[in-house]
Amino acid sequence: MMKRGEKNHHHHHHVINPSFLCFWLLFMLGWISRSSNSIGCNAQEEEEKFRFGARVYNTSSDAVSGKLNVHLVPHTHDDVGWLKTVDQYFIGSNNSIQVAAVQYVLDSVVAALQEDRNRKFIYVEQAFFQRWWREQTPRKQKIVQKLVKRGQLEFINGGYSMHDEAATHYVDMIDQTTLGHRYIKQQFGVTPRIGWQIDPFGHSAVQAYLLGAELGFDAFFFARADYQDLQKRRKDQTMEVIWQGSKSLGSSAQIFAGVLSHHYEPPSAFSFDIDSTNPPFQDDPRLSDYNVPELVDLFVEYVQNQSKEFRTNHLMWTMGDDFAYEYANTWFKQMDKLIHYVNLDGRVNALYSTPSIYLDAKYAANETWPLKTGDFFPYADKAHCYWTGYFTSRSSLKGYVRKLSGFLQAARQVEFLVGKNLRNGGPNTDKLEEAMALLQHHDGVSGTEKQHVANDYAERLAVGSAEVSLIAKHIPMKLFVCKRTDSWLLQCFLLNISYCPTSETELPFGKSLIVVVYNPLGWTREEYVRFPVSSAALEVIDGAGNSIPSQLVPLPKSAYRLRKLYVDGNDVSVADNSLPRFHLVFSAVVPPLGYTTFRIHKASSSSTTTSHPYVSMESSTAEMLRAPSTVQLTSGQIELSFSGTTGLLTQLRNANTGKATALQQSYCWYNGSDGRTAEDPYQASGAYVFRPNTSTCFPLKSSDESMTVFRGPLVEEVHQSFAPWLSQVIRIYKDAEYAEVHFTVGPIPIDDSLGKEVVTRLTTNLTSNKEFYTDSNGRDFLKRVRDQRTDWDLIVKEPIAGNYYPLNLGIYLKDNTTDLSVLVDRAVGGSSISDGELELMLHRRLLHDDGRGVGEALNETVCNSNGECEGLTVQGTFYINIGPSEQSAQWRRVHGQKVLMPLQFAFSVLEDGNGGVIQSPEFSAMNPHYELPKNVAILTLQEVYDDDDSKVLLRLANIFEVEESESLSKSATVDLQALFSNREIDEVEEVSLSANQKKSEMRKKLQWRIEGAAAAGDSSHKNTPHGDPMIKNTPRRDPMIKNSSCGDPMIRTKYMVVLAPMEIKTFLIEF
Ligand SMILES: [Zn+2]
Repeated sequence: MMKRGEKNHHHHHHVINPSFLCFWLLFMLGWISRSSNSIGCNAQEEEEKFRFGARVYNTSSDAVSGKLNVHLVPHTHDDVGWLKTVDQYFIGSNNSIQVAAVQYVLDSVVAALQEDRNRKFIYVEQAFFQRWWREQTPRKQKIVQKLVKRGQLEFINGGYSMHDEAATHYVDMIDQTTLGHRYIKQQFGVTPRIGWQIDPFGHSAVQAYLLGAELGFDAFFFARADYQDLQKRRKDQTMEVIWQGSKSLGSSAQIFAGVLSHHYEPPSAFSFDIDSTNPPFQDDPRLSDYNVPELVDLFVEYVQNQSKEFRTNHLMWTMGDDFAYEYANTWFKQMDKLIHYVNLDGRVNALYSTPSIYLDAKYAANETWPLKTGDFFPYADKAHCYWTGYFTSRSSLKGYVRKLSGFLQAARQVEFLVGKNLRNGGPNTDKLEEAMALLQHHDGVSGTEKQHVANDYAERLAVGSAEVSLIAKHIPMKLFVCKRTDSWLLQCFLLNISYCPTSETELPFGKSLIVVVYNPLGWTREEYVRFPVSSAALEVIDGAGNSIPSQLVPLPKSAYRLRKLYVDGNDVSVADNSLPRFHLVFSAVVPPLGYTTFRIHKASSSSTTTSHPYVSMESSTAEMLRAPSTVQLTSGQIELSFSGTTGLLTQLRNANTGKATALQQSYCWYNGSDGRTAEDPYQASGAYVFRPNTSTCFPLKSSDESMTVFRGPLVEEVHQSFAPWLSQVIRIYKDAEYAEVHFTVGPIPIDDSLGKEVVTRLTTNLTSNKEFYTDSNGRDFLKRVRDQRTDWDLIVKEPIAGNYYPLNLGIYLKDNTTDLSVLVDRAVGGSSISDGELELMLHRRLLHDDGRGVGEALNETVCNSNGECEGLTVQGTFYINIGPSEQSAQWRRVHGQKVLMPLQFAFSVLEDGNGGVIQSPEFSAMNPHYELPKNVAILTLQEVYDDDDSKVLLRLANIFEVEESESLSKSATVDLQALFSNREIDEVEEVSLSANQKKSEMRKKLQWRIEGAAAAGDSSHKNTPHGDPMIKNTPRRDPMIKNSSCGDPMIRTKYMVVLAPMEIKTFLIEF
């Protein structure tokens, strides 16, 4: 026989230990005769090499042409938090919940791989791998590096976590993948080839084209697809497809994508984990229960059945499961035998493999593949079991993740701007980056983890962001605002409960509140800002020293209650017991990648502009009934009308076009099923599954005496409540083209023992013909058709839940001329259940577990310091626009980018006079004559290290799709040098999306043959809308440059880059 690890380079791949065969034939003569293969028997030659007690299995097989090849892919699926926290899973603590310890998985796999060079293993979750790796000795690290080099250990997927695909934003998906990929590159010099999203509950277009093809992956595998879809795919042999996820990038960003045959486990008889109750291979005929023939037969039977569902003669078996291989020997020893005896049998060929080897074999087969567009949402595993609840589950955690996403990007920019010496032991963004990467996990931001794990995640986010806020304290004077070094800038993380001690300080004469407003976008932005204050008459001075208009608006009633609850519960020290009385509102004009500073002080008689007090109109419904009238908000480019009798929104009018659209807004709740229904009696609504008891959404009416209108020159607001536990503020800022709705939902009452899933609905008379559009991870919009799927004839048993889709940017519908659009501030579920109508699910409180593993009802509570608990209250914001399609499309993209990357605030109270002089009240990192085109956004600007060399990772995105906007769905040109006014670019390297390889050195994309396409490879050349490669040495003036004065660094224009619609480019820049 061959030596271990020595591949047979001749063509008889199936040759196995002949001496063993002879021995075996003696015992199994009758059975082996069924085997089709005639294997030579050279007993004497090999006799000495085989003895009982020193049994050697031949595991060296490669793929064999002309046979069914079964690629055995040893793997473990390690959730970075679910029933236990990430650290508990790593260490193996809290085993009473679940026996799982990833440290032993990696320990034992590495030992098992050293035993036999043919054995292979893939490892996925870098959060665990990094924990393990940094505690290994240099000797062990060398061994592992060797295993990686030999291809025995392969990193697959390679992100910090296996991100969710519904509740994640593409910017965060890219970030968490980059964190894993760069670490792998630095430690091992390799770049993962294969996407491995085997557990997420539905699959997104952005995953396929952006986090797949554009990342440089050659393929992407997953396990979960709708049960009806899967049925058809098995029949049609369309389990594996070429997936074009982007209309804009087309075939240039297509990828081979495969649904696994048997979830991500082997058929249960071949699960070899330590706790498996299956009979293991018993191949010693002297012992009882010898079972080799039965197991080989069973294996061959499974394989032959599976082969009916897949193209080519290559099949993949995922040999592993959740947290499997804690004792790797049971798996590998059994697989050694499996491979040995199956190949001896000869009907099919089994081999140790990885997804990469499998993919290369598929590619070599030169088969044609069906084309797939769109995505794999929503996911149902049975008729009444749509996994569409988790689009909204733990809405507050989802909101926290999204809020910190924008905060992290802004913090990284500031970290880069203030320089590297900060990194030497000082506070930095690393911890928040890791926490955010962890939260992208499919049991993280998805909301499908146990409560104690959700708490652990939230704590990690809080600790990470608290450290980041210290950066502001260390910002050197050259950059920031004041000469006094003992005055620190403070961030207010609790603005969501209107808690900000610094801004709430009573300001006597002689003291000023300094507010620094930072803009992380590459455009100048003018936006209304607000924060809580206590003083009534204030004057706001802008960065140029001008007194500017401001307005006071009272806090909504719900704000006081929440603030009290959280201040009580969390021992937040309040300087005095006074509560803030107002939100101070004013317009901030902030330069790109920069800040501006405002000084706020008590207005004196000489003040030119004093904060405008509000005019309120409190009306009870009864009062209105006596004098029916319409309440109108008219401050913006859109105007809202509310019914005088019901208090409900009735109409939206576009002041520019003069066109009015009937628009009702309402709240209602679905009754989450307790599972005791006639059909499928065990399916309750829970953390994963949305299953309303009926299709009825029970309405909440605007309650009596509930509506208050506040007017002023800058903003108009309607405060209204629909129930003691549900209220909202609708506001329109001056000249705004949208309405902003701030909702407060909770504590959802459960004293009637009914679980509730709370929804807001917007109803218009637009004839949308069942069609609506939802975003894919905050990027492309996909068309949805109610009660329909693109890939099969849908049978809908759940008319509500089966039409829900995940939103991260928003949702819209349209008729011939007009779009109704809603943008969201976090991941939520949404749908259009009737024509002209959109709905968002905002919060869920449920009383039963839905049987998908988490083992808890989604019933979040919060407790005060006396231990009194109540249901969690969720606050959030959504934005409504109705307008002509072109305007609406622009608004969705541009305003959506502002929602994603909001202005960031820092506060300080300074004494007036010498100490408080603001040194540089305004700053922009960019060339003062430059801003990015409106269709380009900065996604990432981050200082990174390659072998101790500091570089800047810059990611730019064209945020428009093809055919979306007449004026902005175009290629855009960016001058990289103009982004950095004070530094001269020394070198720019365009790199892959996860910044782990040079673009120029990336593997060439595989050219797949698509079923029905004219000729092989043809389709991949028709559509290559990527922007030109970097234009170098072609000095020219960019039209965006308004004014290039002498000596202006703008004149250097050799770093121009072009971004086609929906294109993202990543650069590593050295200065
Ligand atoms: Zn999982």
